[in-house]
Amino acid sequence: MPNQKVIIIGAGLSGSLLAIYLAKRGIEVEIYESRGDMRKEEISAGRSINLALSNRGIAALKEIGLDEYMLAEAVPMHGRMIHAADGQTKLLPYSGRQGEYINSVSRAGLNVALMNEAETYVGVKFYFDEKLIDFDCKTGEARFESGKIVKGETLIAADGAGSKVRDAMLHGGVARFDFSQKWLAHGYKELHIPPDANGAFRMEKNALHIWARRQFMMIALPNTDGSFTCTLFLAHTGETSFEQLTDKKSLLEFFEANFADALRLIPTLVEDFFANPVGNLGTVKCFPWNVGGKSLLLGDSAHAVVPFYGQGMNASFEDCRVLNDLIEQHGADWKTVFNEFTNVRKENADAIAQMAEENFYEMRDAVADPVFVRKRELETKLEHEFPDYFSKYSMVTFRADLPYSVAKQKGNAQDNLLMKICTETENVNQIDLEEVMRKINSIKT
Ligand SMILES: Cc1cc2nc3c(=O)[nH]c(=O)nc-3n(C[C@H](O)[C@H](O)[C@H](O)COP(=O)(O)OP(=O)(O)OC[C@H]3O[C@@H](n4cnc5c(N)ncnc54)[C@H](O)[C@@H]3O)c2cc1C
Repeated sequence: MPNQKVIIIGAGLSGSLLAIYLAKRGIEVEIYESRGDMRKEEISAGRSINLALSNRGIAALKEIGLDEYMLAEAVPMHGRMIHAADGQTKLLPYSGRQGEYINSVSRAGLNVALMNEAETYVGVKFYFDEKLIDFDCKTGEARFESGKIVKGETLIAADGAGSKVRDAMLHGGVARFDFSQKWLAHGYKELHIPPDANGAFRMEKNALHIWARRQFMMIALPNTDGSFTCTLFLAHTGETSFEQLTDKKSLLEFFEANFADALRLIPTLVEDFFANPVGNLGTVKCFPWNVGGKSLLLGDSAHAVVPFYGQGMNASFEDCRVLNDLIEQHGADWKTVFNEFTNVRKENADAIAQMAEENFYEMRDAVADPVFVRKRELETKLEHEFPDYFSKYSMVTFRADLPYSVAKQKGNAQDNLLMKICTETENVNQIDLEEVMRKINSIKT
């Protein structure tokens, strides 16, 4: 596709991946990023230190040949390791099938790998310390804090949940632009479990650890250096909240009462807790995602979701793959490409947004609920016995071929049925699996 210049705003995860897809088509790509170059400067990659990469994200990386490289840098997580208040642990596998697991990857490592590939191998031009301050929806011009003004054949906004391009669409750029931002009452803070004196993991390496405590929870994902990054999810304000943890005494009492086993593993808890910021969590929805063929919102700028399904980045990577397929079909007819992209992706983005919110309650409350634990056991057995059975979690996480909207609809119907069965039966081994499958197959969705 010669004679096409595409401007991308944001060299985060989705902007850097998209740049590779476009440049591989012969498109001239310029990418503008408000932060410095994280390959040269000590800057945080922003938000979570590590994230769960699963099949939708892997499918997108595979198309540009980076899947194997990234998986070699990842720590596989085969299930959720539930930490009870008394310190007992139980592993709930993510799937009953071999080879279905999620992967803990470094956000910075992934971002750097994508930027290197984009710059070194496919000629993408990066401009750092360039903060977009306005986008003109009529002319297609992007204006930066530095005074620079740029324009291409089109512009794609990958500038994340606080997108400035979306702001321009909302504030007069697009008539009747729908926008909603819903904040969760909970925020998050990251903490660190270092490796032991021999450099080894201090807990099971191949699991996503969860301390579910109903009103709040903590999770921990492994890093390749033997450490874990913990994320504490807690209400911003109220009785048990970040607001209450104001000094060393209140913090240690809170951890002693709720996360006693983890407390022993976090030597720098007090320092880290008071040094690290509390992040906000929210869901962003908007419509339309494009201004004709002039610009498109992609990734979190179009559909930020709460992180409880581990799908925000995976969904954003899937965006890149779908957009690339549409360019394959329609070439540089950007208006058609963007309209179709919005048609295909909007309902799926809404589906994962809802499932991600629901999964917060599942992780926080349900993993400590015996009926839910039985249901997970039953699902694992079904996946082990029946190759064509997929739990909702598996459809979302391991089926890159299935739209999120289908996973949600089918998954909810299955969940209702299985929860009912597990409410009525205490021993999962007594359940007739063939009979359950007959019922599942007769569900009309
Ligand atoms: C705590 C937490 C845990 C998460 N865990 C997971 C997980 O396990 N799995 C998963 O799939 N997803 C996870 N996510 C979601 C994931 O982080 C996002 O979905 C993903 O980062 C979206 O990528 P993006 O490129 O669209 O946006 P971002 O990663 O936010 O990148 C946006 C980029 O644009 C730049 N930018 C912003 N404004 C401007 C501007 N005005 N001008 C120029 N540049 C600008 C930013 O500096 C940044 O580099 C998690 C999120 C959080 C908060």
